[in-house]
Amino acid sequence: MAEELRRVDTPLGPIQYFLTVKSIKNINLRIRADGTAAVSVPRRVSKARADDFVRSRADWVLEHQRRRTELGTPLVPPEKGEALPVLTAALERMYPLVAPLGAKKPALKVRFMTSRWGSCHWAKGIVTLNTALAAVEEGLRDYVALHELVHLLHPDHGPGFYAVMDALMPDWQTRRRALRRYALERPPK
Ligand SMILES: [Zn+2]
Repeated sequence: MAEELRRVDTPLGPIQYFLTVKSIKNINLRIRADGTAAVSVPRRVSKARADDFVRSRADWVLEHQRRRTELGTPLVPPEKGEALPVLTAALERMYPLVAPLGAKKPALKVRFMTSRWGSCHWAKGIVTLNTALAAVEEGLRDYVALHELVHLLHPDHGPGFYAVMDALMPDWQTRRRALRRYALERPPK
């Protein structure tokens, strides 16, 4: 899919963004991990309207680009297609830790969630990871992946669960604290 680099002048300054036309229903605006703005629009939407859309959200775009470059904070989740290989790799790195304890390899699902980093359906053998994790440091992503994998052995957060976490990842509490720096935020519609 071809991307077009466009530039709009706004009262807050010029904004560059990448425009993609797709078979979708609504206009989508997001800030990528590298801080660039990306807009995808349905086929019926003109480029001028895409420009207007970006202009109307100039303060949001500039604020999130600023935060992204200052903090590296994943305020806007990467798209599923971008997140899947990154999250698959995290699960592949962590699974060998729980395999010897008898955990069957789970299926991985990825989706954006606003209130949690991951979840585990231990009875079905499904681990779900938040696409936003693809934009955080690898060590923090691994922590979440391992946490959900350990749920395959201990569905609740009882002493058994934490004993395994302590044994497999002694610094997991430090990683959990670091993860709290990151906020989950939806882009405006
Ligand atoms: Zn848990």
